[in-house]
Amino acid sequence: MRIVSLAGGIGGARFLRGLRAAAPDADITVIGNTGDDITLFGLRVCPDLDTVMYTLGGGINEEQGWGRDKESHVVKEELAAYGVEPQWFGLGDRDFATHIVRTQMLDAGYPLSQVTEALCARWEPGVRLIPMSDDRTETHVVITDERGRRAVHFQEWWVRLRASVPAEQIILVGADEARPAPGVLQAIADADAVILPPSNPVVSIGTILQIKGIREALDGKTVVGVSPIIGGAPVRGMADACLTAIGVDTTAQAVLELYGSPLVNGWLVAEEDAGVALDGVRVQARPLIMHDAESAAAIARAALDLATEIAAATGTAAGTTGTTDGTPAAAPRAAEESR
Ligand code: GDP
Ligand code: CA
Repeated sequence: MRIVSLAGGIGGARFLRGLRAAAPDADITVIGNTGDDITLFGLRVCPDLDTVMYTLGGGINEEQGWGRDKESHVVKEELAAYGVEPQWFGLGDRDFATHIVRTQMLDAGYPLSQVTEALCARWEPGVRLIPMSDDRTETHVVITDERGRRAVHFQEWWVRLRASVPAEQIILVGADEARPAPGVLQAIADADAVILPPSNPVVSIGTILQIKGIREALDGKTVVGVSPIIGGAPVRGMADACLTAIGVDTTAQAVLELYGSPLVNGWLVAEEDAGVALDGVRVQARPLIMHDAESAAAIARAALDLATEIAAATGTAAGTTGTTDGTPAAAPRAAEESR
């Protein structure tokens, strides 16, 4: 089975670990968000790609959800001693090495997709991780504070301000020119199922969907999403501040409507959100909290089962409904199975 997943950072990475466990033989391609990327101290930092890489590669700080395990912060302290800004972004010593290697390769002319592949050669994440684009895009947030109305980098709003100042607008700078990275559209075209993990629907998945051609490529694919909103609140983080900024309620229903049909064909909600419904979408209620690896795998399995069910009902090939030689199962039989 060939699976594509669009992913942000922590929520996405924890889900992907479950997906890998739920489908050990599947060929998984992860399209990573790069809208959060930022240049700090001359180094290119890609927080979401790194969170996925470290989480799947066994090098993540489990409690924090981002950054390296067994981390120290000597470089950060030394930079602070020089009074160098910013001091609000946490970069540990081990993490610095990743950004040094990345920046060195980018400066030598390698595109981000090749740099990511090179970094993953060390981490062996068990999935193919591709940045959404090799072209530089950056999420900026329009705020009004004591310095007036201005746009700040997403990380400044998210990390320094903890989203405490309302976002008036969230803009992906560079979205008009950015093209999908090599392999992105092909992976989607080849996919039996596309899974949207519980990542931020605005600044992670919403960002990836803004890259020209990606939304169109998802047309006609079996797409199943996992709600990041449970009982009217984010499970962790401040996704509500992002949703409010774009005029969307913080509910599993509103996020489903934001993605919309036909983009999404299946939607997993938590049991307390069992009433969620949208024409053209199969909604299923399941326990959706990722407490540990097993619960994440159970959610991933439910998403894959729903994708298989939808594909069978519509008569398209979806992994398990295909015959072993790769030809799709006959449509009438597939329709039979869905009853
Ligand atoms: P990212 O968008 O993947 O970078 O990840 P974040 O860690 O910022 O989380 C994004 C979304 O995932 C937030 O809206 C959270 O509410 C949601 N989320 C985090 N943990 C869980 C979980 O265990 N279950 C579900 N359903 N959503 C989660
Ligand atoms: Ca993110």
